[in-house]
Amino acid sequence: MDKNDRCSLCGRPRKDVGILFQGVNGNVCDDCIRRGYEILKEEELFKKEKPAKGIKLKKPKEIKAFLDDYVIGQDFAKKVLSVAVYNHYKRISQEKNDVDIEKSNIIMVGETGTGKTLLAKTIAKMLNVPFAIVDATVLTEAGYVGEDIESLLTRLLQAADYDVASAEQGIVFIDEIDKIARKGDNPSITRDVSGEGVQQGLLKLLEGSIVNVPPQGGRKHPEQKMIAVDTKNILFICGGAFEGLDKIIARRMNTQVVGYGTQKNIEKIDSKNMLQYVIPEDIRKFGLIPEIVGRLPVLAYLNPLDREALRQILTEPKNSIVNQYIKLFKIDGIDIKFEEEALDYIVDQAISFKLGARGLRSICESIMLEAMFEMPSENKKTFTVTKEYAESKLDKTAAIKFRNA
Ligand code: ADP
Repeated sequence: MDKNDRCSLCGRPRKDVGILFQGVNGNVCDDCIRRGYEILKEEELFKKEKPAKGIKLKKPKEIKAFLDDYVIGQDFAKKVLSVAVYNHYKRISQEKNDVDIEKSNIIMVGETGTGKTLLAKTIAKMLNVPFAIVDATVLTEAGYVGEDIESLLTRLLQAADYDVASAEQGIVFIDEIDKIARKGDNPSITRDVSGEGVQQGLLKLLEGSIVNVPPQGGRKHPEQKMIAVDTKNILFICGGAFEGLDKIIARRMNTQVVGYGTQKNIEKIDSKNMLQYVIPEDIRKFGLIPEIVGRLPVLAYLNPLDREALRQILTEPKNSIVNQYIKLFKIDGIDIKFEEEALDYIVDQAISFKLGARGLRSICESIMLEAMFEMPSENKKTFTVTKEYAESKLDKTAAIKFRNA
């Protein structure tokens, strides 16, 4: 057979291949091209030479101002985070010299729905670095059901499009860190699958070490090649509600002891918001091992959100819930307005269902569903959400649904 009529790489004749691409001195078939492409793709995945995108570092005050645009209140947490992030990236950009600036991983404590995730997300957005959110509750020790600790870096790699150098300067937000606390203050004798073992595993990442990460995560792909990721410059931000921590703090501060000598101090303590007095020792007592507490040197608390804060959250942040609806309707050429009383009503409902900021969104969704369904097919170009309208849409079913949320 004419040698020009076969693939010069695999040797298969034209009739056995899909397409035969003709070159000057030979041919190549579609299969060989496909295989070559796969090899190239894999190589790309493991290449480490691409430098991470330059991070434009803002000063702490500028970082806080940026956070102010998106997050309501939480001034203390914002200040702590701004300084920690500034120091972290300053440390990365430093030439090696005699003073080693230690890494400043962060831990945030605060009730659920007070803005912990939002703060971490906003910082990643500002820095334009890869960002991954992982839930500590799914992590288990290697060999147990659940995800291996390393898998939290898989998410970061994915967020960085497998650009290892860029992932190595990213931010990982570990949510619900309190759920891997040791049960009780004493190290347990039996193995504690979801607690201390996971904490030990996590320690390795927080400290900064080279970790072999499965690129696709999980254990479903045992054949996958691992990617080595250095966690030295990855900023870990941990968050948790730490239910019961207030009691630990109160005990330490001795608020229960009412005596003549202590009375003066007690008056100054704001017992409704004990988290503001948190110190690392309280976190350790809660059940995080001392090594982990030591690797999370920056400790910030978030305040519970009051009525005023919830009201602001509805309308003030750049991408507030209300602004999002306005934009959604605008795309269909519809101008929508929310009456002040309607907004107050939404806040009242969120408070009565004890849903905090998280509830604002679901309540708004329930109220707006009908309009979002009907209006795109109608000719009306304006729409005002009144309190009566909101009330009528948030019917009894919704009320029951949210109450049990
Ligand atoms: P957490 O991580 O503390 O449980 P999130 O950050 O996930 O809470 O907050 C849940 C939602 O509530 C966010 O998407 C955001 O819309 C809203 N939210 C919570 N706290 C604030 C805040 N301080 N400022 C603005 N929005 C907030």
